[in-house]
Amino acid sequence: MSGLPLRGLLIDIDGVLRIGDRPIPGAGEAMDALRRRGVPFRLLTNVTRKSRAVEAERLRRLGIHVAPDEIYTASSVTAAYLRRLGAPACWLLLEGSGVEEFAGIPLTDESPQYVVLGDLGDDFPVMLLHRAFRALLNGARLIAVQRNPSWTAEDGLPRLDVGAWCAALEYASGQQALVMGKPALTAYQLPAEEMGIPCPQLAMVSDDPDVDLAGARQAGLRTIFVRTTSLPRRRMPSAGEFDYVVDSIAGLPALWDSIGWPAGPR
Ligand SMILES: [Mg+2]
Repeated sequence: MSGLPLRGLLIDIDGVLRIGDRPIPGAGEAMDALRRRGVPFRLLTNVTRKSRAVEAERLRRLGIHVAPDEIYTASSVTAAYLRRLGAPACWLLLEGSGVEEFAGIPLTDESPQYVVLGDLGDDFPVMLLHRAFRALLNGARLIAVQRNPSWTAEDGLPRLDVGAWCAALEYASGQQALVMGKPALTAYQLPAEEMGIPCPQLAMVSDDPDVDLAGARQAGLRTIFVRTTSLPRRRMPSAGEFDYVVDSIAGLPALWDSIGWPAGPR
C-alpha cells in the first residue's frame, strides 16, 4: 500500500450504486455525503452501448445524483483515448447512445485506421466480423472497447460479449487488440490524469475482485472491496486481499473519514 494520502475515488456502478434498476440502499445519500466532503470522485463502468448522459439519467431516477461528465464508460474512455491520438479515422462497431461519445472522431468503414470493436447486441452480424477482419489485414489497428468474454441478459441466458468477438479477430489476424475498459490500465489512468490525481492516490471502489479491483491494483490504485454483489457466483476475496472492505456503498463516507485526505469528518 502506498504511503501517500488518498485523494480521490473511482467508483463502479453496477453492484455498487445499483443492481440493474434497483438502487443499493443508501447509495444516493453516500454520494451526497462524499460530495459534501469535497471528495474528488468519478464513476467508472464497463458499459459500452449507453452514453454517460443516459447512465446519469438512469441513476438520477434512482436518487443518485451525478453529472454525465463525472462518469467514465468503456466507450467514453475509448473515445478520449482516440482524441488523444488525434482523432484518426475509425470504424466503430457499436450501437446505442454510446456512439454519441465518439463525437468529433471521423467514423467510416472505408479504409479505417482503427477498427473499434464495441457491442452490437444480440444481432451482431458475422458478416461485420469478416469485414472487420479484412480491415485488419489491410493494416487497421484493433481496439476493443472492453474485453468481457460473456454476459447474462435479463432473460438469464449467457451470451458472447465483446471479448469473444475480439478473441476471434485476434486469432485470425495475429494482432493483439488494444483494450480500453476495466481491467485495462487505460480505464484507470485516463480518469486519474483528467482528475489530476496520481493513480497511487486514488482508490477503486468495486464489488468485482477479479476484474475491477485486480486491474486497479495493476494500475497502482488502492482497492476498496464492496461486499454487496450483483452476481452470487462471484467469489469473496480472502482476508487482506484488498486494502479496505465495506459492506456497502453506504459505509464509504465513514471509511473516507478515516483514510481520506484531509482526514476527519467535515
Ligand atoms: Mg460491479
